[in-house]
Amino acid sequence: MTEFGFIDYIANLFAHIPTNDFEGIGDDCAILPLENGESLVFTADLLTEQVHFLRHATSAYEIGRKSLAVNLSDVAAMGVRPIATLLSIALPSDLPKGWAKEFMEGYHSLSDEFSVALIGGDTTRSDSGITINVTAIGRGSSANIKRRSDAQSGDVIFVTGELGASGSGLQDLLARKFDTPQAVAHRNPQPQVTEGIWLGAHREVHAMMDLSDGLASDLRHILRRSKVGAEINTELIPIAEGSDLQTALCGGEDYKLLFTVDPFTADPLIRNFHSHFGTPIYPIGRITEGNKLQWLRNGSPIETDWQGFTHF
Ligand code: ADP
Ligand code: MG
Repeated sequence: MTEFGFIDYIANLFAHIPTNDFEGIGDDCAILPLENGESLVFTADLLTEQVHFLRHATSAYEIGRKSLAVNLSDVAAMGVRPIATLLSIALPSDLPKGWAKEFMEGYHSLSDEFSVALIGGDTTRSDSGITINVTAIGRGSSANIKRRSDAQSGDVIFVTGELGASGSGLQDLLARKFDTPQAVAHRNPQPQVTEGIWLGAHREVHAMMDLSDGLASDLRHILRRSKVGAEINTELIPIAEGSDLQTALCGGEDYKLLFTVDPFTADPLIRNFHSHFGTPIYPIGRITEGNKLQWLRNGSPIETDWQGFTHF
């Protein structure tokens, strides 16, 4: 069974249990509408040693920041502000002295940057390797929430930054090149919290998600949930320095935002975003009718076997 097949199985297994007002499995976060016109959103991500990080290649401080960053990215992807987290850690007895404190300093620094409270969690011993689970909670106006399911045919597809640095950085780390700019980027993802909240407040932004597994895989979630297709102009993909097109599309862990915009307001949004943040957003293609994902080069279809990263 694939990772996403397993998630479908879980969703079906629980379909008969009342959702208690939650909009559950399938988006970057689950959504709970409140009575005051706001919603809470919830997400959990797990990081395990060897799978998500290598102890010899990543400092405890960086792992602390990264385990929070990947969760804040999922909250930002909903268009709302992260407000609190729960942190659960399983630590083996062979950890170097000071590892846990340094981990917490990293976790604290990113929490402080976005004023995110730590409200609970669990601490336990592990027999093999470090395991970290973070649950993040966000809050915002229900009208601002962006779902994967709201893309419309004709929408322009955007990403908020260059892609591929993290994937190239992982290749560097595996080759024991620890200090390349790409390796540093891989260890230090910066969640686009402010950008996500800003895009959330713009009605012309329809669907949004964060890029954790790579555009080639993540875009398919928007297409499937919105029942639409897409054409991507590969020459418009912003490729990070030192990376390449395939890594930019399949590498994963860039944690930029992927979103779709009403075509009539795409140009003003590009200008507004740039004047607000001083950085560009990149139009890379269009949402189409049907359900096909078509890659184009200079307007002509190209055949690829591009897939994003999956865990199974
Ligand atoms: P993301 O990459 O944004 O964290 P995923 O693609 O990992 O999202 O997950 C897709 C959806 O499946 C999310 O809504 C997530 O909450 C849900 N999900 C993943 N694993 C499980 C699980 N073991 N039990 C319940 N829901 C899950
Ligand atoms: Mg996500």
